[in-house]
Amino acid sequence: MDIKLAVIHGDGIGVEIVDAALKVLDKVAKKYKHSFRYEYVTAGGRAIDQFGIPLPDEELKKCLDSDSVLLGAVGGEKWDTLPGHLRPERALLGIRKELGLFANIRPAKLLPILKDACPLKREIAEKGFDMVILRELTGGIYYGERGRKNGPYGQIAYDTMEYSEKEIERIVRMAYQIAMTRKKQIISIDKANVLESSRLWREVTHRLNKEYPEVKVRDMLVDNAAMQLIRCPAQFDVVVTSNMFGDILSDEASQITGSIGLLPSASLGESGRGMYEPIHGSAPDIAGKGIANPIATILSLEMMFRYSFKLENEADEIENAVYRTLEEGHRTVDILDNGTRPLGTQEMTQKILEKIR
Ligand code: NAD
Repeated sequence: MDIKLAVIHGDGIGVEIVDAALKVLDKVAKKYKHSFRYEYVTAGGRAIDQFGIPLPDEELKKCLDSDSVLLGAVGGEKWDTLPGHLRPERALLGIRKELGLFANIRPAKLLPILKDACPLKREIAEKGFDMVILRELTGGIYYGERGRKNGPYGQIAYDTMEYSEKEIERIVRMAYQIAMTRKKQIISIDKANVLESSRLWREVTHRLNKEYPEVKVRDMLVDNAAMQLIRCPAQFDVVVTSNMFGDILSDEASQITGSIGLLPSASLGESGRGMYEPIHGSAPDIAGKGIANPIATILSLEMMFRYSFKLENEADEIENAVYRTLEEGHRTVDILDNGTRPLGTQEMTQKILEKIR
């Protein structure tokens, strides 16, 4: 395949981890005879310094003209006091919006070898878990009508949660499609005992079940889901939910895997084009020290091969290389076992590269 990839290093450790991931991508591309052309995009804090805004049109255009986007992370203290529309994170919102990325996909997997990093009880961690959370990304309460008005007891503030059938259908359909490639099970999370938008969510989810009769769907209320994630995470496989519930639950799920430095994510649109990034931020506290864990970004490439390019062998190759490296006992500082010598970003990347032959 001939692929054009927009690459955003971003700020802080973004630079180090994206460079590491590109080495892995080069090696996989060579092995499987793909040609990747990188289009470097300046966005986030770096773009604010250079152009005065987080996402200049020219830079956005590079993303729009590419087959997918790889992002390190943006942000840092230096830009924290800027007004909202000038903050580095605005760049991400701009890209998501312009690329029509309506689904955020986050796997949360606890490898048996890393069970000691899991903060849950030992007997729960021993069982392990492997789930994929799909969060609706461009609708719901974060985008509904909001405002303030005067009331008899002072100001009243309001935010509204709205979902159209189309918005629900496209994210739930994606969940069914992913479920068909896994255990054919979905847990759909809502608050249908209270919210009308959740009742529509349920209706649409079950209506679509007729198109995917092999998939078993279970509804779960969001408050129960928050509890079940720590009580019995092994019961979850594919999870689909709305924007706000997904925002909260996907952070909870990532926390119980034990390390933020291991988890990738994808934001996908209807065309299959996506933005791939680690779930962590720019980690200013360790930036430039060469100790950041590159695995979350490397696994973001694995997701890119799987979800945007439908190249399963290449995706498996990356995933296996990472897992074998961890199985050999190599660790970066964020997932360190007692008595292990921590590897730096480059050393860890080298260990992963050695597994791709
Ligand atoms: P963070 O994820 O950057 O860091 C949290 C902690 O985890 C830090 O102690 C950090 O050192 C550690 N950590 C994160 N990634 C790591 C890695 N790969 N290897 C080893 N350790 C790692 O979150 P934060 O400190 O709350 O935010 C820092 C900046 O990142 C802020 O400006 C925030 O706005 C931004 N941010 C950006 C994104 C994004 O670009 N998508 C996401 C979250 C936060």
